[in-house]
Amino acid sequence: MRIGFGYDSHRLVAGRKLVLGGKTIPHERGLLGHSDADVLIHAVCDAILGAAGEGDIGRQFPDTDPAYQNISSLTLLESVGALVAAKGYRVFNVDSTIILERPKLAAYLGEMAENIAGILRIPAALVSVKAKTNEGMGLVGAGDGAAAFAVVAVGRRTDS
Ligand code: MG
Repeated sequence: MRIGFGYDSHRLVAGRKLVLGGKTIPHERGLLGHSDADVLIHAVCDAILGAAGEGDIGRQFPDTDPAYQNISSLTLLESVGALVAAKGYRVFNVDSTIILERPKLAAYLGEMAENIAGILRIPAALVSVKAKTNEGMGLVGAGDGAAAFAVVAVGRRTDS
């Protein structure tokens, strides 16, 4: 078994959709980035890639490549899942935390976990998505950004 860790952060700005875990969430601002800036999916991708010894999403999907402009990060996750599967690994489980001051995310966490599990083709019970505020501290605490952390365990596939 191998463990991977991922971290990501993005600024919150006007005129962008807020997409977290593949779910579009009603809010007056959204995350700024080259793709849909889904900070949770980016952290999960980095954790999977880290566990598999494949670097990070910046290396796999350069933000200088127009192919990835405004792309759904679920598409990136699908590619990451395929890449580690091709190396003979499967994802055992995912644990993650989003740090966002508002809006409250509790009502959306289950759907985010289902989105991630669906892409990775594992049961939703193996994907944990949690949310916290930053207690008003710093840029995230001021409501000007979001961050996410993820830990993933991968292991050798027994079916290959
Ligand atoms: Mg990112």
